[in-house]
Amino acid sequence: MRDRVQPQSLLRIACASMPTLRRLCVYAGSNVGTRPEYAAAAAALAERMAGRGIGLVYGGGKVGLMGVLADTILDAGGEVVGVMPQALVNREIAHTGLSKLEVVGSMHERKALMAELADGFVAVPGGIGTLEELIEMLTWSQLGIHAKPCGMLDVADFYSGLSGLLDHMVREGFLRAENRARLISTAQPGTLLKLLEAWEPASVTNWLDLVRS
Ligand code: AMP
Repeated sequence: MRDRVQPQSLLRIACASMPTLRRLCVYAGSNVGTRPEYAAAAAALAERMAGRGIGLVYGGGKVGLMGVLADTILDAGGEVVGVMPQALVNREIAHTGLSKLEVVGSMHERKALMAELADGFVAVPGGIGTLEELIEMLTWSQLGIHAKPCGMLDVADFYSGLSGLLDHMVREGFLRAENRARLISTAQPGTLLKLLEAWEPASVTNWLDLVRS
């Protein structure tokens, strides 16, 4: 059978047609923000995800942009998995109509399970909870803890300040350019999904060598 291995070109075509993102973890504000563009962009991302058969993994809440994402995908018949610590479930802020609600013991367990269940990570506009979750996944990418794409939906230039800070970190010698480049950023939901699907992990050897030296 060995001499009947398919040519590389056929394998590439086969891989290109395989869905690389089965589930996307989306970090989103527990508020909707002041501009209608934020909820519109979250809904547009959710519609594109449902259209491409990409399920949602998220914090499990029913409020803010989290609720917009979950409701839009559920309305479109897609899969939504919420991951929430028992303490937050007890406060009755969990979305009750999800495909599945995973209840965990702590915020740390929640983040680990969300990371495990998803094939990539995206932040739409949000507050410090959203920011912390995105940056943690970017840090895990830098360390090679996972090899999954990270992106942000920069609607209405919401994340221009963060992009500027990351560029400043590169200029000042605290962040390597190749690690800065791990964070995909665009205002277009469809483009974001395509870039996430096309992303290939960079080597982490240099970064680890740097830490060890
Ligand atoms: P923030 O951006 O500060 O509004 O926090 C939103 C992020 O933190 C989400 O991605 C959730 O994972 C988590 N989070 C904060 N508040 C809640 C809530 N009420 N219900 C569920 N998750 C929440």
